[in-house]
Amino acid sequence: MTSITDAPPAVRRTAPFGLLGYVVLAAVVVYYAATHPFDGYITNILMQAATYSVAVMGLTVVLGLCGQINLAQAAFFGLGAYAVGLGTVDYGLNFWLCVGLGLVLVVAAGAFLGTSTLRLGGHYLAMVTISFQQIVTLVMVNWIPMTHGPDGVSRIPRPGLFTSAQGYLAFCVTVLAVVGYMVWRLPASPLGRAMRAVRDNELAASVAGIDVQRTKVTAFAICASLGGLGGALFAGGFAYVSPDQFSFAESIVFLTMVLLGGVASPIGAVVGTGLLILIPEWLRFLKSVPGLYLAIYGLAVILIVLFMPDGIWGWFSQWTRRFGRAAVAAVPADAAALELRGSVGHNNEVLRVEGLAKHFGGLKAVDGVSFTVKRGSVHALIGPNGSGKTTTLNVLSGIYTPTAGKMVLDGTDVSNLPPHRRTIAGLGRTFQNIRLFRSMTAVENVIIGAEHPGNPVGKAHHALDARARAALAFVGLGDRADEMVTSFSYGHQRLIEIARALAGNPTLLLLDEPAAGLNSTEKVELTGLLKRIAAKGLTILIIDHDMTLVSDVAEHITVLNFGRRIADGDPVSVLNHPDVVTAYLGSEPDAPH
Ligand code: ADP
Ligand code: MG
Repeated sequence: MTSITDAPPAVRRTAPFGLLGYVVLAAVVVYYAATHPFDGYITNILMQAATYSVAVMGLTVVLGLCGQINLAQAAFFGLGAYAVGLGTVDYGLNFWLCVGLGLVLVVAAGAFLGTSTLRLGGHYLAMVTISFQQIVTLVMVNWIPMTHGPDGVSRIPRPGLFTSAQGYLAFCVTVLAVVGYMVWRLPASPLGRAMRAVRDNELAASVAGIDVQRTKVTAFAICASLGGLGGALFAGGFAYVSPDQFSFAESIVFLTMVLLGGVASPIGAVVGTGLLILIPEWLRFLKSVPGLYLAIYGLAVILIVLFMPDGIWGWFSQWTRRFGRAAVAAVPADAAALELRGSVGHNNEVLRVEGLAKHFGGLKAVDGVSFTVKRGSVHALIGPNGSGKTTTLNVLSGIYTPTAGKMVLDGTDVSNLPPHRRTIAGLGRTFQNIRLFRSMTAVENVIIGAEHPGNPVGKAHHALDARARAALAFVGLGDRADEMVTSFSYGHQRLIEIARALAGNPTLLLLDEPAAGLNSTEKVELTGLLKRIAAKGLTILIIDHDMTLVSDVAEHITVLNFGRRIADGDPVSVLNHPDVVTAYLGSEPDAPH
């Protein structure tokens, strides 16, 4: 999938001109909509397109940016529409007040739905949103005293300022323009970056310091609020709402609109919405032959989605980029500018692990392990394959809850904190299987690592950007910062992961087999990098199979076997320890995994 993500650096630089052009375009469209007499049919189509587009942009955020499914957008749309319909007609409330109440209602519903289910993710979320959609429809149809049931609500007034159909249309287009601008800018903001990180790799996002659950709930609430806003405008536009306009089938139409136009951009939302409203109109002449109309309509949608998996706008922007891409000038970055938390601290222990255990059913992957990591040291955790090293690291970074034991990081007990809180508390890590945000550039990946409240660098974008570039320069990739991470070799991707962890300014850096998959030249370079990090005073806990590397950099080694600690001490004594020799000679050669 293409994403908005390749855009931000360019978007940032051209923003003032882009904004100006955009405002001029929007103003021309609004002026045209307000002053040119359309016939009622055209006005209706445009009104529907404008109000639907607002709701479809909600899906651009939740699905395109954050990767979460929502099959209840028509329900949110309907809640907004009914808030305006019932509020103005039955209760005589002011139009704008009803829009506000509708927004409160949908944001509350969206946040509640998100909070209760987003932890489950994937198909559970799909199921729950379908159920929510059905409940809303049932209530609209059956709670007759409140909702007027299947008859719906008619004679909904427009606000005093925009009583003419075209004046109101111009207002809807203005709202659409503002929403579109905000959705367009969102990806380059901290929240938008967090959403993209969650979409690309949830585990890496949490370890980079992002509150994954909160990010998803926020995305969901934004989606719901745009659904409600679109619905509220729709009610004023058509003066009539009824339950069948907001059914599950309509939620599928919303989803098709965003997929057809392209989830990666608000322009896609408008294109998809416009097409799905127009195609049925174009095919109207087929309606005399029952079934034929639906078959052709369905076929058209399937063909477009099949041949343009990124949607029409995604396909179009890929095509134009091929011609128009200007080389991005590398901003010179200074490796020496990277400050790391050095050997200062109130005690000599950066990490104390006591009686740590993690059992998977009957399998004791880690079974009562204790060790301490001294400030400013390079400490290695070694052991045969399957001895529990990665599991130890996963428990340390909060990905697994331990069966028993505790961890104290720099004097703070972090045993009960979720992953992102541990990162804020000073933990940084890399993964045995590389976990980068694959739709982003190297520098964006590293900015996400730098962007957490525990990092003294702060929140200003230029400071985060400078830190990210310095971290990339430190690992030797400064001049390729603006390239997509997928264009880097495997070994360089490992370095980007290290840069991402360093940018967060950790007190303790956890590295899970950084040398796995590297060739011998790359291993030499990695050894040099580790020595340079250590020279800056940063404490490192490293897992690796490569004994040359380990004995070259580590001052202290802890050895695991079958989840238990079998040796702990300086390299010479540990590597000659009889149990260690037996454990290594007795095991098969390791295959990295
Ligand atoms: P190492 O990193 O030392 O090679 P691991 O910590 O990955 O070893 O694995 C230790 C043991 O725990 C292995 O037997 C592995 O199969 C098992 N294990 C690891 N993760 C899980 C999991 N999520 N569920 C069940 N078993 C697991
Ligand atoms: Mg491992």
